[in-house]
Amino acid sequence: MHQLKLHNTLTGKTEPFEPLVAGEVKMYTCGPTVYDYAHIGNFRTFVFQDILRRYLKQRGLKLNHVMNLTDVDDRIIANAAAANLGIRAYTEKFAQAFFADCKALSIQAPEHWIRATDHIPDMVKLIEELRQKSFTYDSEGSIYYRIAKFPEYGKLSKIDLTGIQAGARVDNDRYEKESARDFALWKAPKPGEHFWETEIGPGRPGWHIECSAMAMKYLGKTLDIHTGGIDLAFPHHENEIAQSEGATGEPFVRYWVHAEHLLVEGEKMSKSLGNFYTMRDLYGQGYRPSALRYALASVPYRRQLNFTFDGLTQATNSVERLRTFADRLKQGKFPAGSPAGFKEKAVKALDDFDAGLADDLNTAVALAAAFDFLREANIAMDSGRFGGEDAAAALGFLAKFDEVFAVVAINDAEKLQELGYGPAGDGLSDNEIDAMLAERQAARQRRDFAKSDEIRKKLAESGIILEDSKDGSVRWKRK
Ligand SMILES: [Zn+2]
Repeated sequence: MHQLKLHNTLTGKTEPFEPLVAGEVKMYTCGPTVYDYAHIGNFRTFVFQDILRRYLKQRGLKLNHVMNLTDVDDRIIANAAAANLGIRAYTEKFAQAFFADCKALSIQAPEHWIRATDHIPDMVKLIEELRQKSFTYDSEGSIYYRIAKFPEYGKLSKIDLTGIQAGARVDNDRYEKESARDFALWKAPKPGEHFWETEIGPGRPGWHIECSAMAMKYLGKTLDIHTGGIDLAFPHHENEIAQSEGATGEPFVRYWVHAEHLLVEGEKMSKSLGNFYTMRDLYGQGYRPSALRYALASVPYRRQLNFTFDGLTQATNSVERLRTFADRLKQGKFPAGSPAGFKEKAVKALDDFDAGLADDLNTAVALAAAFDFLREANIAMDSGRFGGEDAAAALGFLAKFDEVFAVVAINDAEKLQELGYGPAGDGLSDNEIDAMLAERQAARQRRDFAKSDEIRKKLAESGIILEDSKDGSVRWKRK
């Protein structure tokens, strides 16, 4: 295995990663704010942290990973009040949708999936600690963090604090760098809004204190890794540092790892531009969970990801190539041994794959290692110089590949049906069709045209039309 390096926003450097306690990683991920369905930009970050999580596990590390649901913040308070619903009643639908979306994208459940509203006493306790250490002041029933008391404020986002007036306050959970100032830890209740009755008075927590309190409750004073989208670095993560380190006097996070933004067809995603997509929008247009996961994972996390429909089609084809390859390996009849040395080549491919991921999670390099191997192996199979031992080694490589990328197993239709998409009733399911197609592709590659025709006929009898495209991929549709 290659030495793992991660880019740390705090130091601005790509550094060797070693957990504080050997063999165990304490990791926190800022989860979604469940006031709406999560969109593909959100899922870029969640797929990235899943790739990181899976890769750490592949390296034999034990994960203690916490992801929260922010189920109280300004937007939720406002939307719930407008809908005349309690906070739980308002957020539950979006929380369940998020869990279902994660499942469809094969995003592993963290060890702790927690909700902010289940941890109000922990937040109150942390605010009391900060109060005892004079990091806070009260104003009109709210409690603010005094950033002048924390000289290191700004060390994560490198914000320039000159010209900021002491005592100037901001009440919003989200604000721009230009409005850096004392922020609310606890907000006094407003008429019609949900609030909690607590030792520090009635009110509700600010967004930032939620993550500090929850992270330290489950992971202790110092975390190994904290992930999130780059847009969270300021003010959210900056404020998390100020709160946690103010209270404990110890480093809060050793590696801050942030994923870059996602663009759609080269533009910033926004509802007004009409290029705003949730996963469900894309499933509704016939795209598969595996292709979306692949598209979101294929660009290294620190590069901007330009999400395009062409790219999504390419991702669909790439997944299909991997699946066809797996099927060919499983169903092919190979002579004994390893005539063209693919046993060694599989070892080399796995080493290149690992080198890519170890280098700050360079998924592009890892994927290139897999496809180089696949291409060569297909050529060897075509020419009959591929043996049983080669096939076993290649399947071993694919299994390692899929521990991290998780796109080879054919399960899209099942997932879509669970989300309420796809056909119901009689006929072949999408899964069955995909499996037959992979079998037909494998038959064609081993020049078993009788088998390939037989499968085409079977599909036609069930009303499935195949379209072979020039690049070798196959699409299907129902008559
Ligand atoms: Zn957070």
